[in-house]
Amino acid sequence: MASTRTPLMAGNWKMNLDHHQATHLVQKLAWTLGDAKHDYTGVEVVVAPSFTNLRSVQTLVDADRLGIRYASQDVSAHASGAYTGEVSASQLAKLGVTYAIIGHSERRQFHAEDDAVVNAKSKAALGEGIVPLVCVGEGLDVRQAGEQVPYTLAQVDGAFDGISADDAATIVVAYEPVWAIGTGEVATPEDAQEVCAAIRVRLSELYSPEVAGAVRVLYGGSVKSGNVAAIMAKPDVDGALVGGASLDADEFAAIVRYQ
Ligand code: PGA
Repeated sequence: MASTRTPLMAGNWKMNLDHHQATHLVQKLAWTLGDAKHDYTGVEVVVAPSFTNLRSVQTLVDADRLGIRYASQDVSAHASGAYTGEVSASQLAKLGVTYAIIGHSERRQFHAEDDAVVNAKSKAALGEGIVPLVCVGEGLDVRQAGEQVPYTLAQVDGAFDGISADDAATIVVAYEPVWAIGTGEVATPEDAQEVCAAIRVRLSELYSPEVAGAVRVLYGGSVKSGNVAAIMAKPDVDGALVGGASLDADEFAAIVRYQ
């Protein structure tokens, strides 16, 4: 990975853990990472608990200065008002949320979120100083047709539409081939590099080489301690978005210490 981009390891806890379990996992993760025998200097560590657990995680992280950042798993495209069940970017900003995962394939699949929604949510997050962690990636049919690059780049175009270069440079993109999520079917490092590099080229075309060089592009899909190093060795992969393996503190800590 290019030396100017700080590697980012993000744990997407999805709809798992109550607030007791979430605080326990954060504590255990911080304790495991704090073990001086292993170095993970320079890696940014992020966890994404459910909305109901963000306040508990905030309290713990603030009180103990744990050095772990936290993300929401979604954000409303609306600022406030009559949107039952939604959580706004300003509400999340008040909880010290650094990142909002936007457009995860499970949101796209089960909640019919399209690129326009992803774009609106990204703008809502940016407006409150929250960094969008935008997920893109193709399904199995698209991969089998060999269309993964154009398909994913169309999602990138949609997500960044109308976003300024200054804001774009802060955004994190996660390339998550849907066929590799939660299936144990990890993309090869070459598969990950192909699409992550294409995303960076597209950002250079949409904005500039400087913006493209600043944006962190993560890989996600069945990342584990045993496969993360080979994926991270690729020049355009700047980190990982980790689902299942992030629910185990030892395993996620091992992923963070991939070096
Ligand atoms: P997984 O999930 O690591 O369990 O495949 C990744 C994700 O959905 O972000």
